[in-house]
Amino acid sequence: MSDIAATAESPSRSPLADEVARRRTFAIISHPDAGKTTLTEKLLLFGGAINLAGQVKAKGERRNTRSDWMKIERERGISVVTSVMTFEFQDLVFNLLDTPGHEDFSEDTYRTLTAVDSAVMVIDAAKGIEARTRKLFEVCRLRDIPIITFINKMDRESRDTFELLDEIEKTLALDTTPITWPVGRGRDFLGTYDVVNGGVRLLEGGGAKTGATEQIDIADLAGRNANLDVAEIKDELALVSEACKPFELEAFREGHLTPVYFGSALRNFGVGDLLEGLGKFAPAPRAQDSNVRKVEAAEPRMSAFVFKIQANMDPNHRDRIAFARLCSGKLSRGMKAKLVRTGKNMSLSSPQFFFAQDRSVADEAFAGDVVGIPNHGTLRIGDTLTEGEEITFVGVPSFAPEIVRRVRLTDAMKAKKLKEALQQMSEEGVVQVFRPRDGAPALVGVVGPLQLDVLKARLDAEYSLPVEFEVSEFQLARWISSDDRKKLDAFIAANNSGIADDVDGDPVFMAKNEFYLGYTRERAEGINFSNVKDVK
Ligand code: GDP
Repeated sequence: MSDIAATAESPSRSPLADEVARRRTFAIISHPDAGKTTLTEKLLLFGGAINLAGQVKAKGERRNTRSDWMKIERERGISVVTSVMTFEFQDLVFNLLDTPGHEDFSEDTYRTLTAVDSAVMVIDAAKGIEARTRKLFEVCRLRDIPIITFINKMDRESRDTFELLDEIEKTLALDTTPITWPVGRGRDFLGTYDVVNGGVRLLEGGGAKTGATEQIDIADLAGRNANLDVAEIKDELALVSEACKPFELEAFREGHLTPVYFGSALRNFGVGDLLEGLGKFAPAPRAQDSNVRKVEAAEPRMSAFVFKIQANMDPNHRDRIAFARLCSGKLSRGMKAKLVRTGKNMSLSSPQFFFAQDRSVADEAFAGDVVGIPNHGTLRIGDTLTEGEEITFVGVPSFAPEIVRRVRLTDAMKAKKLKEALQQMSEEGVVQVFRPRDGAPALVGVVGPLQLDVLKARLDAEYSLPVEFEVSEFQLARWISSDDRKKLDAFIAANNSGIADDVDGDPVFMAKNEFYLGYTRERAEGINFSNVKDVK
């Protein structure tokens, strides 16, 4: 942990700065099936959170009780909710923010990526870069999030190693530096060579649980596997040290270069190296942009933003948990915080801390950590909490929906209740709601169709509101704005039947199709049409 050791020795550092410096807040990005869940379990094992490993999974029978509340999840075997796992390893605190595996919930994933400082990209060694990895990588790149690569499933038939690195470089425009290098492949995969320090770490080293693997010299490989050509391996390793770029911390931190590790999550191999790499290379909590100034993580006063809302596991209570990422300072149980959007103070009387080993021990959190704040609808996605300062963190996005539907209530008497329920669902980020200015029934927008199923199930279970979704005359939604207020008002007046308000009351132009949108846009001089909105 060279950089940590160096900074820890500096006499001028405050205890708060020390706490911040030992945090690593990250997410795992991957295509479904690449091994994210398996890797997550193994990372937790390393962090000593053994009681959690094995519970993470939301597939098949091994269900996580935390997400069991939602039947739809259970039925489909997918993980809908984003959760936080905190564990310690080598005196560092790792916050792993889990993201939904199913792409229909990608909006959740994008928002979660606004709350991390780095990401681990898991790639299936037989498949290389897949569609969703690429998409998520692009989201990381937009935010300059540094990426560490883990090439998984090395215990199975895999593609040529140079070819895999080449694919990362070409398709993602990202330089690669292998930190380890596979020795043998598929059935003959023996382990990895430590490119930096030399020596081979063997897969069959015994300590699969502890991660303690045997390390030997290349020359001693010959007797291990008759299929291995040691001379060829030596040639390959010579080529690696000649042809591969040396690791440069700055290029990594700026998102231009990725250190690459090889392993097998299933066999618990290479996971310790990856974790060490995260500790050594991944940045401590970064400064966050607000509408007024950049907020440094080690500033003494607490600030945080909400990136995720989760309804309570108990459907009979309408409590919500707001997941907030601390941007600066320290949050302790019972402190008061200002909710900047409303200007009101709220008491953080029972924040949840997510130490995987023992949830009850922690009663404070530091910049980089995520806390769960129970509330009854006070907090929304994008909200900023401070110790009084009037700032709002920027960059938590809303994305224009891919699918727009009209909500039809089977019981017309419940219109008011539906309005409230939809408002709450949109504040939680379950769906987006658009209220047509002409008084027509509300429209909902989603990125993927499963979100509609979730909305329907929750309206029924939590609000006793049976609803149906109808195809609407509108397919597209774009947020409209203008530097010239008069121009915006005139546009809205002229297009009234296609204007709706979003959850914040901001105007949205609803279009029948791309052609109509293009046509309108061309004629609407001075009006911006956006498919992304920064939640303010
Ligand atoms: P996710 O969809 O990315 O969360 O992937 P999972 O962790 O659920 O893994 C998908 C499948 O790949 C499961 O059957 C795992 O057991 C398997 N798997 C994961 N990692 C490895 C690995 O390193 N080697 C092998 N052979 N299989 C793996």
